[in-house]
Amino acid sequence: MNYQPRPDDILPLLHGVLDAPALLQALPPFAEADAALQAQVLAEAGKFVAEVVAPLNRDGDETGARWQAGAVTLPPGFADAYRAFWQAGWPALSAAPQDGGQGLPAVLEAVLYEWLSAANHGFTMAPGLLHGAYECLKHHGSQELKARYLGKIASGEWLATMCLTEAHAGSDLGRVRTRAALQADGSVRLAGSKIFISGGEHDLTDNIVHLVLCRLPDAPPGPKGLSLVLAPKLLPDGTRNAVHCERIEEKMGLHASPTCVMRFDEATGWLVGQPGQGLAAMFVMMNSARLHVALQGIGLLDAAWQKARSYADERRQMKAPGATGSEASLIAEHPAVARILDTQRAWIDGARLIAYRTGLQLDVARHHPDAKAREAAQQWCSCVTPVLKAACTQQAFEGASACLQVFGGHGYVREWGIEQHVRDARVTMIYEGTNEIQAIDLLLRKVLPDAGAGLARTLLALRDELDASREADADVQRRFAQLRYLTTHIAMAAQAAPRLPYEVADDYLRLVMLALLGWAWARIEAAPGAASNHAASAAAFRRWVLPEFEMRAGIVKKACEAVAASTH
Ligand SMILES: Cc1cc2nc3c(=O)[nH]c(=O)nc-3n(C[C@H](O)[C@H](O)[C@H](O)COP(=O)(O)OP(=O)(O)OC[C@H]3O[C@@H](n4cnc5c(N)ncnc54)[C@H](O)[C@@H]3O)c2cc1C
Repeated sequence: MNYQPRPDDILPLLHGVLDAPALLQALPPFAEADAALQAQVLAEAGKFVAEVVAPLNRDGDETGARWQAGAVTLPPGFADAYRAFWQAGWPALSAAPQDGGQGLPAVLEAVLYEWLSAANHGFTMAPGLLHGAYECLKHHGSQELKARYLGKIASGEWLATMCLTEAHAGSDLGRVRTRAALQADGSVRLAGSKIFISGGEHDLTDNIVHLVLCRLPDAPPGPKGLSLVLAPKLLPDGTRNAVHCERIEEKMGLHASPTCVMRFDEATGWLVGQPGQGLAAMFVMMNSARLHVALQGIGLLDAAWQKARSYADERRQMKAPGATGSEASLIAEHPAVARILDTQRAWIDGARLIAYRTGLQLDVARHHPDAKAREAAQQWCSCVTPVLKAACTQQAFEGASACLQVFGGHGYVREWGIEQHVRDARVTMIYEGTNEIQAIDLLLRKVLPDAGAGLARTLLALRDELDASREADADVQRRFAQLRYLTTHIAMAAQAAPRLPYEVADDYLRLVMLALLGWAWARIEAAPGAASNHAASAAAFRRWVLPEFEMRAGIVKKACEAVAASTH
């Protein structure tokens, strides 16, 4: 069964709950992007994903990417599908019209990438970094580099990579050793090896634009000494640059995406941004990529759920409690199976609401005429992106595994395709910054430095959307208040025990996600017409998901109390 994008699941959230048409049409570039246009774009996107991308998923996994003598071939059908993808203008959806883009809202691109990942994660890895590369070059590239590369990247005619990781430098990019030497003509020579580079080599596009983190001579050690260099596979005169793919990795999943070992052999490149500002430039790309990885998580979970739901509605085993008649019950009628399905649905729709709100906030941060509104939106994206990345990818893996359980032994064999989602989902917890690094980013870099004031402001904006006279909304506000109290507790305990915030960062991130999910479900249930469609998943959210909030709060509180007890 191939993944089926369902605009009817998305539009009630986007339009009915988040009021996206009004919000977007208030932004000058999107004055024409009314509800009908948004629905039309999503209908076309869903059609493309279902007809062109989804059918290649299974064979892509079976055949995988192939390396031979430095060249990489993607599975049959991928090159044609990618050509159709860029020629239809999908990579350019949210790029600016002056760069050859369609100038549509980022939130629509978010839905597109969620569906693409659900339908074919391996294929989606190829264009997945394009928008980040576009933003990075647009904001940090010289006029000359932009003239040569921005349009091709915006349109997707050329694909881009993000070359950060080295064998000894993974989470700790300050250890990157790849060398760059400035030349008299303004170019640089790059020498070094990168590992795990997604799409480092392939046959989808003529040229590949590598964005490489590297170090100039005499650069200080650590992250401050890093620069960013653009090194294309083909040089402007059409000759081959000294960039080589030495091999591709054999992986647990994601077989259709080549994960490459790349060697830069005195390759030619050009600086993007100032020397020593490489990480700042790269962060533009990484932030965009992190939201995309969160969307991969949501998409993969939905793909696993669709398969499990359909299987549970056909397979019969034993009698469900209270069932009458002689026939065995559908397994969907067994409370244990219903609980699995409804719980994953609660995660999918709740996380979608938070992710789409983040997509909308990206649009506000880029285009709102008022600087204060732009700043508040930026604050939301900064706090919520690591939360979404870590929480949605963890749920993708654990939830896909729960969906596999619905198939019993039939899930463990390849026939039904559910095991591919479990294998593919696992890496999303690792790349784009491991989930541990996301949790530290949230608590240590974004929350504690201003004693939680920024996060509190972000949550306050949500509080304004709630109605305290409704019990569910009052509960949401209580959890926000509890979060503020725990933040203060951690900040105080950290003074005596500096390791503590690192130890509880993961619990803290889960707490923020669960508090946001609580807000999301309160909004979904309050939306006219939405409640009846979501009754089972709303109930599952309250019964099986939300109690984790109290459990995590207890863990954090006890850890802080233990510090207090040991210092008295
Ligand atoms: C399929 C795939 C595709 C990838 N694509 C790309 C790509 O396109 N470009 C690219 O540059 N890289 C890519 N990567 C690399 C990926 O981003 C790294 O694997 C990841 O950043 C982790 O680095 P590492 O593997 O060296 O693990 P390490 O950094 O060695 O981490 C090992 C463990 O230690 C933990 N850890 C490390 N430091 C800390 C800390 N300070 N606090 C808490 N825990 C810590 C980690 O969370 C992890 O659990 C890809 C990887 C894979 C598997």
